[in-house]
Parts: sequence; C-alpha cells; structure tokens
Amino acid sequence: MAVARATLALHVPDRETGLCVACLAAGPCEPANDAVNLLVGLGLPVCPPVTRRMSWRNWWHRVRRRFAGGPQL
Ligand SMILES: [Zn+2]
Repeated sequence: MAVARATLALHVPDRETGLCVACLAAGPCEPANDAVNLLVGLGLPVCPPVTRRMSWRNWWHRVRRRFAGGPQL
C-alpha cells in the first residue's frame, strides 16, 4: 500500500504539459492507474495530492467515473 501511495505521489501530471512527470505519458499513466486499482481494490481511500491544479481533479474525475461505470478499457 505504501508503494502504491508512493507511486501515486510520483506519477503526477506536469503542471504545464499535463504529462506524467515520472514516465512522460499523457493523462493517467499505467503505474498510477495500477496503484489506484490496488488501493481501491483493497477498499482504501485514495487521496490525490490536493496541491496540484485542475489536471489532477480532471484525472481523478475520470478515474472515479471509470470505477463507477465499470471497466471501460
Ligand atoms: Zn507515470
């Protein structure tokens, strides 16, 4: 779990480009997605960094929608 949280803390969108600063992927990158999946799967609350800008809120909104509507990959 600590690893998942650390992963989420590392894989955050750059405030200018919107790309993940760790793997330079656009939007919710795979490592961050896996970490969220793990935390949600364990029934733990996921706390995205609130210091970031709207990109994080948008990202989180999409993740929440995905979980609410089931897998849509
Ligand atoms: Zn990443």
